[in-house]
Order: sequence, then structure tokens, then C-alpha cells
Amino acid sequence: MKKAIVIGAGVGGLATAIRLAVKGYQVDVFEANAVVGGKMAQIESNNFRFDAGPSLFTMPELVDELIVLCGKDPKEYFEYQKLDENCKYFYEDGTHITAFSKPLDFANEVQLKTNASSQSVLKHLKKSAFIYNATEQLFLKKSLHKIKTYFSFSTLFSFLKLPFLNIFNTMDSVNRKRLKDPRIVQLFNRFSTYNGSNPYKAPGILNIIPHLEFNKGAFFPKKGMRSIPEVLYKLCLEKNVQFHLNTKVTAIQVSEEKATGVFVGNDIFKADLVVCNTDVYFVYKNLLPKKYFLKNILTQERSTSALIFYWGVNKRFKQLGLHNIFFSENYEKEFEFLNDGKTVYDDPTVYINISSKIKKDDAPKDAENWFVMVNVPSNNGQDWNDIKHEVKSNIIAKLNRALDVDLCPLIEFEESLDPILIESKTSSYKGSLYGTASNSKMSAFFRHPNFSSQIKGLYFCGGSVHPGGGIPLALSSAKIIVDLIKN
Ligand code: FAD
Repeated sequence: MKKAIVIGAGVGGLATAIRLAVKGYQVDVFEANAVVGGKMAQIESNNFRFDAGPSLFTMPELVDELIVLCGKDPKEYFEYQKLDENCKYFYEDGTHITAFSKPLDFANEVQLKTNASSQSVLKHLKKSAFIYNATEQLFLKKSLHKIKTYFSFSTLFSFLKLPFLNIFNTMDSVNRKRLKDPRIVQLFNRFSTYNGSNPYKAPGILNIIPHLEFNKGAFFPKKGMRSIPEVLYKLCLEKNVQFHLNTKVTAIQVSEEKATGVFVGNDIFKADLVVCNTDVYFVYKNLLPKKYFLKNILTQERSTSALIFYWGVNKRFKQLGLHNIFFSENYEKEFEFLNDGKTVYDDPTVYINISSKIKKDDAPKDAENWFVMVNVPSNNGQDWNDIKHEVKSNIIAKLNRALDVDLCPLIEFEESLDPILIESKTSSYKGSLYGTASNSKMSAFFRHPNFSSQIKGLYFCGGSVHPGGGIPLALSSAKIIVDLIKN
């Protein structure tokens, strides 16, 4: 039986382990942490439960696909519901917009509350679907770094559509032209942050992202986001995948330019192939000999990171939903600060996720579990304790204003996460949430491939490599790898 080793048990690593086990490999997963899931951790304290990382769930069919692949019934393993409302948006001028999940309801809401027409919104969402359909095969389902990808009908189809995908305009300029009202431009610009990018620099092709939320749908797993890695872990165990938790891989063994196993200290574990789910930067920096370091790919701009406060709030807020955004009054300025990489704008956009709105047992009765996040630059040695202190007081002032409340006395539990902690807990270089940024027109092509062109039998999955960050793309990377191995 052929042996495979996966380094890291984030969702990308777990999905790869399942696929390799189904393919007949004996799979060993090495995970530095005591639990699987990587960024998809959870915090339980004082009768509150928080999903520590991702909160927005799209493309659940990718999880279902893994369950079916293992010969099981998705309904018995993983329940989730489609959201009626994707997000509630709050603006400093007092405007409140509910992004209903049905495009027509959302478009009507926009027309009612702003100067943008419902038609312009519907047209924008159609264009978003067009970009998705034109690029899905090329950018999301295949390796961009194999010649044969470029000799298929689906690739030709994608290339023919390239001139219509707004690659040469920024996302902001496309949105301003189409949507007119600055509040709606801001709303759609925000989708660039879903992969840690900047709408004033990133190409308009990133307008593919709203398609996932509005046309395909946003979902909530019945048992919370944490249940996603738990389901994948269960499938792995059923497929006899062996887990080595609390076990940090210290080097990859390379013999005659082929990956032949991994080292944990002085112990060697042999394998026919090795898959890295850890941030690709650290694979080259820490696990491989220096001669393999790919300077151009590995020193690219990093995506943004985040400051997160997990607050147990001793009150229920009827005006809030599962996902809530309190926009900065000056979005462009906020991104100038993010771009500058030093500190955080004093009026940041605040995202609040409240899973207890749906999963009631995530907070005591009459209380709510708030995951409060602002985007911040990745870690460049800033004083995060100072920044955290300042950002917290700015967030509280903003929320007091918007919700007409005195928030501080209501916070009965607090924990926080910053770029340094994100790096130390998940080995994500500089604490970036999504690997490298997607601000350049060519960023999709410059992401690290899912295989090594220098070392045979070495593969890469997860949010730091192709096709990109976020749960759906990390899950897709697993599929691309196993297709590559087949071939
Ligand atoms: P990771 O989660 O990065 O896990 C890698 C694992 O490798 C870790 O467990 C680490 O301990 C382990 N490891 C590293 N080095 C070693 C070693 N040497 N030996 C052994 N083990 C090692 N995505 C969304 O889709 N929606 C969202 O709403 C969203 N929000 C986010 C919010 C936050 C705060 C964060 C941090 C991320 C968010 N993301 C979101 C991104 C998403 O979490 C990731 O893209 C996704 O989880 C991909 O994970 P991964 O497969 O790359 O593995």
C-alpha cells in the first residue's frame, strides 16, 4: 500500500487526507496543535462558545462531496441551512441595509434605501455570475501551472472571456461606474476583503465573490463552523487515516530531488508522497533546504490579517443578525492605512458575527456571543498591544453610536486574537488570513502551485497556495492535488 503524509490538519489538509485515503493510500497526518482544524478553532468559556476563525460559509456542496466520496449520506453527517439574510449593513449616516439572500429582494432594498437602482444591482450580480462561470474551470478547478491545463476546451473558453472580466480596471472603479451610490459601491467593494485584498488596487475580476453569497448562497452549519473540520476529521478516522497530534514536523526528507518522508526531531517517517497544508512560506523557510527557496513567489505582498475580540455580551440586540457590518465613513482612507502596513485607521469597518442568533446554545439566555473583527495589516513588527487597545476603544465608540448603547458594562467575557497570535496558533506567516494578497492582475498565476516543480512527490494544499484562501478554495486545492497525482 502506498503511503502519504499530510503536514497540517487545517480543512485543506483534512480534505486531502480523505481524498488520498479514498484513493487507496495509507495516510498519516501530522498536526502541531492538540486539535485538528487549524484556523477553524473554537473558544468555549463562561457559557459562551465562539468559532474563532471563519464565520461565513459558502459552497457547502464541497463538504457534501467529501462525505459522498466516503460512501456516506451527507444528511446524516452534516446539516446546514441557507440564510435568508446574508448580512446587515450599518452606515455612519444612519442608513441600514439588509442584504437579503434573494437577489431581487436585496435589489429592492437597495433601491428603497439608496440612490442606486434595483436594476443596477441585479445587473451587477449577473456580471458576477458571468465571471464565475467563465473562470471556474480554469482558476478554481485546475492547476494553473500545468501545461495541459492550457490545452483544454474549458481553458480556451475562459481565455476567450478574459477581455470581459474587468482584469485591467480596479474593483472600485468598476463598481463606481456600475452602481453610482457610494454606499452600494462600498458594500460591493467590501467583497475584496474576503481574500484579504484592497478594492482600490485589486482587479475587477474579484467581483466574482458576491456571486458566491447572492447567487449560490450563504449558509450556516447547524452545529457551528467548528463542525466543518470535525466532520472531516470523523471521515478521516473512518478511512483509517492516522493522526499524530501535538506533533510538529521539523523537516521534509528529500532524496535525489524526491520527497521521501518527514522528520519530527530525530524520528523519520517515510512516505511515497508528502502534502504540505502549512503556510507555504514556512515550508520553504523551515522544512526544506535553503536552495529550494522561491524568492519571487514567497516574498509577495501578504493578505491582510485581523484583530478579533470575542465578547460575551449580556444583552440581546434585535437589530443585529448573524453577520453585521458597521462601515467606516471613509473606506478609501481605511485601505490607505491597511496598505501602509503600520497601524489601523481610527474609524475601521467593524464586522460582528453572532452565531447565537441561530445556534441558541452558543450563549446564555438573554446574552449573545459577539465575534468582533477589524481588518489590519499583516504583522510587520507593530506594537499589537498598543494597537489592540486603541482599536478596541474606537470599536466601542462606533458601536455605542450606531446601536445607541453603552457597550462596555455589557461585556462579561473577552478574549482576543491578533496577527502575532494567528501566526503562533496556525503557523500563518505574518498572521495573514489568506496567504498572499490578490491585489495584482496576475496574482492568481503567482500563487504557489499545488505541486513542487523542484521536488517530486511534494504537494501543497490550503489557503496559502492555488487557488487561494477561504474554506471553499482550500477544499478545492485538495481536489486539484489528487487529480494531479492521478495523472
Ligand atoms: P490552516 O487552517 O491554516 O491550518 C494549517 C495547520 O497546519 C494548522 O493546524 C497548523 O498547526 C498546522 N501546521 C503548520 N505547520 C506545521 C508543522 N510544521 N507540523 C505540523 N503541523 C503544522 N474563510 C472563509 O471561507 N470564510 C470566512 O469567514 C473566513 N474568515 C476567517 C477569519 C479568520 C480570523 C481567519 C484566521 C481565517 C478566515 N478564513 C475564512 C480563512 C480560512 O480560515 C482558511 O483559508 C481555511 O481555514 C484554510 O485553512 P488551511 O487548509 O490553509 O489550513
